[in-house]
Amino acid sequence: MTPSLAGARGPAGPRPPEPPPGPWADRLHQALMPDYNRAATVFWWSVVALGVAALAFALAKVAGLPPSSWWQIAAGTAITMVAGLFPVRIPRSTNAFTAGEIFIFLLLLMHGPAAATLAASADAAVGSWRTSRRWTSRIASPAMNAVAMMATGSLLQAVLDAMQRQHVSSPGALIVAVIVFALAYFVCNALLMSALPLLKRGERIHAADLLGVFGWIGNAYAGSAAVAAPLFLIYRDSGLGVLAAVVPLIAMMLATLHYYFKQQQADAAMRLAAAQAAEREATLAARHLVELHHIAFHDSLTGLPNRRSFLAQLAEAVVRNLAAPQPQGFAVMFLDFDRFKLINDSLGHATGDAFLVQASRRLQGLMGEQDTLARLGGDEFAVLMRGISGLSDATALADRLLAAASQPFQLAGAKLSSSASIGITTSALPYTAPEEVLRDADIAMYRAKAAGKARHVVFDAALHTQLSQRLKLESDLRAAVAADQIGLAYQPIFELASGRVAGFEALARWSHPELGPIAPNTFIAMALELGLITDLTDRLALRACQQMRQWQLALPGAQALMLQVNISGRDIVHPGLAERMGRSLHSSGLAARQLRLELNESSLMQHVAGAAPTLAALQQAGIGLCLDDFGSGFSSLRHLNSLPIDSLKIDPSFVGALQSGSSTGTDQAVVRAIVELGHSLGKAVVAEGIETAEQLAVLRALGCHHGQGYHLAPPMAPEAVPALLAHTGIADAPGLSDDGVGAPPPDSFRH
Ligand code: C2E
Ligand code: MG
Ligand code: MG
Repeated sequence: MTPSLAGARGPAGPRPPEPPPGPWADRLHQALMPDYNRAATVFWWSVVALGVAALAFALAKVAGLPPSSWWQIAAGTAITMVAGLFPVRIPRSTNAFTAGEIFIFLLLLMHGPAAATLAASADAAVGSWRTSRRWTSRIASPAMNAVAMMATGSLLQAVLDAMQRQHVSSPGALIVAVIVFALAYFVCNALLMSALPLLKRGERIHAADLLGVFGWIGNAYAGSAAVAAPLFLIYRDSGLGVLAAVVPLIAMMLATLHYYFKQQQADAAMRLAAAQAAEREATLAARHLVELHHIAFHDSLTGLPNRRSFLAQLAEAVVRNLAAPQPQGFAVMFLDFDRFKLINDSLGHATGDAFLVQASRRLQGLMGEQDTLARLGGDEFAVLMRGISGLSDATALADRLLAAASQPFQLAGAKLSSSASIGITTSALPYTAPEEVLRDADIAMYRAKAAGKARHVVFDAALHTQLSQRLKLESDLRAAVAADQIGLAYQPIFELASGRVAGFEALARWSHPELGPIAPNTFIAMALELGLITDLTDRLALRACQQMRQWQLALPGAQALMLQVNISGRDIVHPGLAERMGRSLHSSGLAARQLRLELNESSLMQHVAGAAPTLAALQQAGIGLCLDDFGSGFSSLRHLNSLPIDSLKIDPSFVGALQSGSSTGTDQAVVRAIVELGHSLGKAVVAEGIETAEQLAVLRALGCHHGQGYHLAPPMAPEAVPALLAHTGIADAPGLSDDGVGAPPPDSFRH
């Protein structure tokens, strides 16, 4: 059994190295034992000196023995050393034992302490060489074993000699004596070995600690003694031959043990590795879970809680309020920036993102400790205020948020101004689900937008009814468009001089089954919002073309009539508009020059850049374009001149203000200017909204050739058209051209 110093080494303690005297000694000390203090150094050198002395004495002693003994000693020592190469590791400990001890003790009994000292020292040399890289340990270990064996082995020999003198020869006595010796040898060895690290750390030896660290060696020594003593007895009685048979048996047994424990150790190492891997995986999974939670509940751009997180927090507030209505409640705000789309579309998404980040920081700065700001998506934010004592708390915060939102933003090197609209609702209403709360705040926010933006609106029940009505109307409109239930009324456009009909404007009509007629301005805007407009335009254009073609075929002179169909700003930027209209013309058989699309001035000017290709395509196809509500928008002369526009419709607001006799009135001047401008650019001019004979007279006097209005004829069902045409007559082809003024005018063309 060869416990090494390395195996018994404790944690490194404070080590103020004390330089030994002399420069060579100093260098040697630094190289070999930099962590040895004076006491440890003195101890080391003493033990080594004693060990060398013991070995020298042992060698001298062995030299005095007969050569046959040398061979036995050499063989025993060799077996001891070989056994040292197959340590049996104690599972779950850093310690190992070898079978060497058995043979050392056997040599002790057969040839005395000198032989055992040589073997013990050799065994320790092998052990410490294997387990330690430090020369101090490799030298001290064999020395210590030599000292311990020489001392305790000599004692045993003295005892055995005494027993012999007393004629005590019972095997039991011998075995007991050898076991007692083994324990003494263990104590001696353990003291020597543990003394060195303790001295280095300046600590005292505690017997309990010693037993804890070396106890297993004591057991192994006693066991080895218990094997060695009977082996010695067999040898004494039966000679070397039996030993020669027993040694391989022991070797086999130990080899088996060696591999068994090695296997156990490998298994334990594998289990440990598996456990460590499982633990690592668990930690990793936990970290991923935290990350996942963050991603799931936060907005990646602003780092604010997202909609899911907001709804979860709001759900808690709603539940708490439901469980026990509190004196203090919560408020929820829905905030939407008013000009975000513009920023995003005109300056790009990167600037849009930067805007949102800046805006979110600004808003977050105004939040109280109990408030939560979340980004719901796009430029929509929501605030949950907890513990408010009344609505005024919420409106005060809303005011601060509005003020912050309208401060200019520094973006892309420029100052940008924006504003926000906020909808507010509070726990004063009996909410049962977070979605209801957010929905109402959203409705109130839309109300704020509709009321002119940059303001807050508090939700009330009336708002809810309004919105649900609107939602119903929207779904009804969708169904009506799909079912072709949107009809057309036709308002005649007259040649003012002759009173004959030059064409018709087709106007969309929707009669709702419950609500009755819905104003076109309302449902056209709705169709635009719902993305239904392109479909609606196509269906109405086709229907109007077919209607016009039918009149042409049925009524004499109707070939000269012009059909004017209204389109929206969305249609004019649609690249396929000309082709779509071409299909309607083709399938109805109407000529392209008889179709004129009406687009109001402001819509065209808003989309002027995007409209250019469509306008060119329309011109190519021979389809005309009329600028509707002219005078109410801001078209420049350049556009009027360069764009393929062939007629202008004077906005009814100017026409409505015309009065005869005040030829110097501003509106009259505007109408005169439009008429003259149109004529000078070669465009037809139509006055719209003629409601009185007076207005008609003034328009005639101003040289306006065409007009429409309730005074002349209201929009009418197609069935009424043939009778009207029969009564008024049809202007000469081509319709609505400004090439001449006909017969003396009637006061009214009504029939
Ligand atoms: P708009 O194109 O300027 O049509 C003229 C509007 O003035 C019509 O209103 C017509 O009924 C009305 N009107 C006719 N004579 C008089 C009059 O003497 N006095 C007054 N005050 N109004 C008169 P309506 O039919 O309500 O249409 C409103 C607007 O809805 C139209 O204005 C047009 O912008 C839009 N719209 C109508 N039908 C369609 C359509 O099929 N497609 C598209 N995109 N828009 C349409
Ligand atoms: Mg129109
Ligand atoms: Mg108009």
